[in-house]
This record gives sequence, structure tokens and C-alpha cells, in this order.
Amino acid sequence: MRDLIERLYREHTLPPDKLRILLTQCDEEHLTLIRQKACEVSQKHFGNKIYIRGLIEIGNCCHNDCYYCGIRRSNSHIERYRLAKEDILACCEEGYNLGFRTFVMQGGEDNRLTDSRMIDIISTIRKTYPDVAITLSLGEKDTRTYQQFYEAGANRYLLRHETHNEQHYRLLHPSGMSLSNRLRCLNDLKQIGFQTGTGIMVGSPGQTVDHLIEDILFIESFRPQMIGIGPFLPHHETPFSDRPAGRLQQTLLLLSIFRLMHPQALIPSTTALATLLPEGRELGILSGANVVMPNLSPPQQRYKYALYDNKASMGAEAAEGLKLLDDRLKAIGYAIDKSRGDYFEETTI
Ligand code: SAM
Repeated sequence: MRDLIERLYREHTLPPDKLRILLTQCDEEHLTLIRQKACEVSQKHFGNKIYIRGLIEIGNCCHNDCYYCGIRRSNSHIERYRLAKEDILACCEEGYNLGFRTFVMQGGEDNRLTDSRMIDIISTIRKTYPDVAITLSLGEKDTRTYQQFYEAGANRYLLRHETHNEQHYRLLHPSGMSLSNRLRCLNDLKQIGFQTGTGIMVGSPGQTVDHLIEDILFIESFRPQMIGIGPFLPHHETPFSDRPAGRLQQTLLLLSIFRLMHPQALIPSTTALATLLPEGRELGILSGANVVMPNLSPPQQRYKYALYDNKASMGAEAAEGLKLLDDRLKAIGYAIDKSRGDYFEETTI
């Protein structure tokens, strides 16, 4: 096991049979080792700096019906909302004053939030704050729409592929959705020039070691600039309400594997991990993550963006809790970096 970890650290890749050993036989001692190696790599590239992104959850209306997600169309017990342009701009103003230089607009796939409304919002933010990075996480769109979002001033796009296995994809999504379209979207985004992020939920229902190996190989070949890895957490109003949450150890192991395979990638320590356990954010960073995304949404709306039960959005998860976040990062030897934190290839560092 030690040799495998050393090899991954040196070569940034492992054949599938070795990945299987790592995923199935990594005990506590070796998990500690791989996490140390992952931190060493992230410190080499980013020092002790953790980039912050201000997360604005722009609405929870969604026409999709993903079986795992609390804001899915079929959940009739949720109070729906859609932020107005002015609300979003107020979030940006607050975030900018707090020092954020990346805004992430995430939301459900909402037909009433038309492309032209979104383009207007993006271009207004671009004009008002020329120095910020604008990240979108608005799901599947056609090629032309992505192009227009890019031309309006968006720089980055987060779209987890969720699983690269067709059968597993079918288990997680209803028939109107397809893995091939999700992958088409990812290719479009990259082609257009977005810094592109993808990823998975760890421990999503039906996920096997084979699926994880497929995901790792897909991410290796796709070479995203950002990799989003967090545990699956159940939501009580979904078909997966009784499924267990993704395991902490496996989430940390995967974060470390991705850091060793993608030394320069931007890898968040996710809200889901911080929800799984109170010190989750710190454990993610101590496994190789180098980004956190504090919540910049209007506080009175946050509880409505309930992708899973008990989602953390206050305290150090909140944009207004930046001091608390900084204190907690300092306690583990890290510090907030308020710069844009773009992705750079090795040669340009
Ligand atoms: N609609 C957009 C999309 O599909 O990318 C953005 C919003 S979607 C809610 C953002 C991410 O939330 C998904 O990619 C998924 O991985 C994550 N998510 C949804 N339900 C979750 C759950 N129960 N546990 C953990 N993560 C979840």
C-alpha cells in the first residue's frame, strides 16, 4: 500500500487494478499517509493558502427530478424561491466588500430563469466588478447558451458528471436525463474556454468501487480545472431518504487521490463534508482540498436551498462568518487567500 501511495505521488496516475487496491484496502495508517502526501502536494502549489468563493444560491426551482436531490421537481413540500437580479447584485456587493473575488451562482434548472435574464445578470456583474471571477453552476444548457454566458463575462462552470457509469446514472436519474448529454455539456464548456469543474457524490446510492474507478479514469482523461467531491447526504423528501450518507474516510481518501492525480486542480472542501461532521471542512483541507465556498445567499433564503437534510449555511460556512473561518483555518496552519484564485498550469506558476 505504501508503495502504491508513493507511486501515485510520483507519477500522478495508477492503473485501474492498483486504484482498486487503494480504494478497498486503505486502512487508517495508510489513509493518514496518503492525506499527508496530498497536503504536501497542495502546499507545494498553493502554500498554506485557501481560496474563498462566495456562493450565491440563486433559486431552488428545478425542472429536473434527480432522485437524490432535495430541490427536485417532485418535492412538493419545499418553499420555492428565485432571487431577483437586484437580490443577486446585493449579494455581490456584500461579497465584494467582504473581500470575495469569485462569485459562484448556483441554482436549480429553472425554465423561468431565461437565458436572456441570466445573460443580463452576468454582464451586469462583469461590468460592475471587472476584477472578479464569475462561476456558474446552473446545470445542463445547449451549446449556444453556454457560449452566450461566456461572452457575457462568465469564466468558470461547475457541472458534476455525478457518475460515469451508464447503469449507475440510470439509478440516480429519471429517464428524461442522460449521461451522454451531461458529458456533451462538459465537453462544450471546456471547448468554449470555461475553467470547468466536474465531480461526484461519494457514496451515492448504488455506487460501487468499479464506478469510482470509472469516475477517477474519466476525470483523469477530462482534466478539469476544478474537482468537486463531497459525500452524498440523504434528504427526507426524496426516494433515497433512507439511504446512508457517504462515508467520511472514503471521501477523504478520494480527495487525496484527486489531489495526487491533479496537483494544480482547484478542489473545494465542500459544504456537504462540513455538514457530515463539524470539523469536515478542516479534514477536507487536511486531505488536499484548497478551496472553500462560504454561503453568500440572503440568510433568510438559505434554508430553502436544501439539497440534503441539515445543510450547513451558517457560522464558518457563511460569508459573514469569514473571521470565524479564518480562525479555524489558522488553527490548522492555513489562511484565507482573497485573490481570484484562477487555475494555472505548472509552467505559468
Ligand atoms: N442544477 C445544477 C447541476 O445539476 O449541476 C446545480 C445545482 S445541483 C443541486 C448541485 C450539486 O448538488 C449536484 O451536482 C449534486 O452533486 C449535489 N447534490 C444534490 N443532492 C445532493 C445530496 N443529496 N447530497 C450531496 N450532494 C447533493
